[in-house]
Amino acid sequence: MFESLSDRLGGVFDRLTRQGALTEDDVTAAMREVRQALLDADVSLPVVRSFVRAVTAKATGAAVTKSITPGQQVVKIVHDELIRTLQGDDAPETLQIDTPPAPILMVGLQGSGKTTTTAKLAKRLTEREKKRVLMASLDTNRPAAMEQLAILGQQVGVDTLPIVPGENAVQIAKRARQQASFGGYDVYMLDTAGRLHVDDVLMDEVQAVRDVVNPRETLLVVDGLTGQDAVNVATEFDAKVGVSGVVLTRMDGDGRGGAALSMRQITGKPIRFVGLGEKMDALESFDAERVAGRILG
Ligand code: GDP
Repeated sequence: MFESLSDRLGGVFDRLTRQGALTEDDVTAAMREVRQALLDADVSLPVVRSFVRAVTAKATGAAVTKSITPGQQVVKIVHDELIRTLQGDDAPETLQIDTPPAPILMVGLQGSGKTTTTAKLAKRLTEREKKRVLMASLDTNRPAAMEQLAILGQQVGVDTLPIVPGENAVQIAKRARQQASFGGYDVYMLDTAGRLHVDDVLMDEVQAVRDVVNPRETLLVVDGLTGQDAVNVATEFDAKVGVSGVVLTRMDGDGRGGAALSMRQITGKPIRFVGLGEKMDALESFDAERVAGRILG
């Protein structure tokens, strides 16, 4: 197991004399530990560097009150800065899906958890926000993926667009839009095809669908355990199709979730939800407090 940042810092400050404020030496020693804790949590190196710089500036000279130890003081400064970075300050709190039928485009690589997340989110919107949701799979290359969405739809009680063999992604998207309008749905979710790597064919297809439906939200689903790769995937998708928010899956795994920090810092995109397991209820709103706690250990 990883050592928590509090434990690491406890060790550092035990060796230092207690003063009224954090000195530069205190902070330098502490930042070595902060840096290592972030790297252990799989935060990417450039993000670690800029984060440590920001925290150093805030911590140097900070007053230490009698009630807390210098170590606790540094942990608090790091924690607050993590929250600030993870939350950002520009993103709207909720999905922008007020005007029916609102299209949500789900994009991402194959295996990221895109189809599962589509069904989880449809269930959530249905149950918590009382939306009428229609789901459609655009993965014409993988009939099994289309079937999978239909099965998950049945499981969560959400309608899926009937499968018509031979249609391409744009045709399915248009049919979904039509069905959503005529059927009185509030939201229609398009589960786009995934591939093992970002490639031009995939991007061209997603762009064509985007241009037809003009999505209110384009949610990128990425595997939260893939660290820097997740950030690279997000950067590529955003450049090509424009991403409005990110869903990090497999945050139930062993990792410390540092990808969330790198993602927010590098792409500037809000993390909307986190996947916490295979079950259909295992999707939660992104909670910066919780992720910060986990990164710090
Ligand atoms: P897609 O190819 O991107 O559509 O991926 P799928 O939705 O088919 O998911 C691939 C596998 O990952 C499935 O076995 C899912 O149950 C699993 N999965 C998806 N999200 C999560 C998650 O948040 N946590 C865990 N542990 N497994 C997940």
